[in-house]
Amino acid sequence: MVDPDCLFCKIVKGEVPAEIVREGDRTVAFRDINPQAPTHVLVVPRDHLPDAATAAATDTGVLDAVVREAHEVALAEGVADTGYRLVFNTGAGAGQTVFHLHGHLLGGRGLNWPPG
Ligand code: AMP
Ligand code: ZN
Repeated sequence: MVDPDCLFCKIVKGEVPAEIVREGDRTVAFRDINPQAPTHVLVVPRDHLPDAATAAATDTGVLDAVVREAHEVALAEGVADTGYRLVFNTGAGAGQTVFHLHGHLLGGRGLNWPPG
């Protein structure tokens, strides 16, 4: 359930440093290294799953855990009331660059729709 070559597995294991904001039984949340909003936190499962499509197909409840944890982070960051966006880039064609499932929690500024 861990890919030794995966960057986010290494962050989960503490082998690569990150600014961790919240840890759950199944998830770890840490600040994006290249933030696109005042709040930009990535929520990842501890288990290695390449993307949201794989998680949906295997139906382990991991997506539920990620979304619930993202909401807890939004509350803690003070963006739950003003609104936040939760993004799962899924596949290279959608801009996914790290193939360990992660939800981007974005908030703290106006967010245009549709996104680019
Ligand atoms: P995605 O393009 O959806 O795969 O998002 C990957 C995200 O991971 C990007 O927003 C990157 O800025 C972020 N990222 C890459 N390396 C790190 C790192 N070492 N620590 C925190 N965030 C990272
Ligand atoms: Zn991984």
